[in-house]
Amino acid sequence: MSVPQGAPQGVIPTQLLKGQKALVTGGNSGIGKATAIGLGRAGADVVVNYVAGREAAEQVAEEISGFGVRAAAYEADVSQEDQVVAMTQRMVEEFGTVDILVANAGLQRDAPFTKMTTAQWQKVLDVNLTGQFLCAREATKEFLRRGVVPEVSRAAGKIICMSSVHQLIPWAGHVNYAASKGGVQMMMTTLAQELAPRRIRVNAVAPGAIRTPINRSAWDTPDAEQDLLQLIPYGRVGDPEDIAHAVVGLASDLMDYVVGTTLYVDGGMTLFPGFATGG
Ligand code: NAP
Repeated sequence: MSVPQGAPQGVIPTQLLKGQKALVTGGNSGIGKATAIGLGRAGADVVVNYVAGREAAEQVAEEISGFGVRAAAYEADVSQEDQVVAMTQRMVEEFGTVDILVANAGLQRDAPFTKMTTAQWQKVLDVNLTGQFLCAREATKEFLRRGVVPEVSRAAGKIICMSSVHQLIPWAGHVNYAASKGGVQMMMTTLAQELAPRRIRVNAVAPGAIRTPINRSAWDTPDAEQDLLQLIPYGRVGDPEDIAHAVVGLASDLMDYVVGTTLYVDGGMTLFPGFATGG
């Protein structure tokens, strides 16, 4: 039987986020890029944040502008408080406000436990966890300042934290990364609890294995892909668009009653596929 491969294309409703302003951190590559494009396709104006890849970020912004919405590329290191404050202020000045934050920027610095340096540990925590904290805090200040504008959205703001299946699945050789995503999970639910009474929705998306530069070695040869597929009941490696679709949905009023949830987008990776034939 031949079944469709790859993420579905052309399924995003084009007016879903009309009039909303979205900030996507790490929007120049992989999941962040597809998400920024997806939000633009859904009618949002989009700020594409990057730290190093200016040219790629500008190309993403240009592609988004092609949907008839506004887009711009902003440089900021999400782990640096002053840069996150400046980026958020600039977005409010130039775009008017922030309605949607996708706290996506992240990286890996892998090593076996006893070989992992403090610098590797700290870098991953600084970007993956502190970076999300800083971006969420600054966006929340703006959500609270503005309040709900019913013509735009039923919520004063939406935060979507990019987590990982490794907020749940331990990952040998990646203790810094797994700890950062476990932290994101508890940060997200705590913020959701604290901010829901102010009509701010905080949720997370937890991708499984998605084809991006961060994990190229896990899928870029047929042997590697076959090994990876052992972990994925649905039988295909994910595409960045699979994650973009989840983010667009969570950011929209279609999901207005979804608060403090992690949406696993993983082809079933968290279903303990090793137990499918025994255990
Ligand atoms: P990617 O293609 O390597 O993209 C990572 C992005 O993060 C890049 O845009 C990078 O910007 C940005 N970034 C890194 N450090 C930054 C900093 N200090 N400040 C601002 N931006 C920074 O990887 P990806 O797979 O799309 O990853 C995106 C998110 O998805 C990460 O949080 C990752 O943990 C999560 N995730 C990915 C997978 C997967 O299978 N791919 C699975 C689970 C979770 P520059 O290019 O400018 O450096």
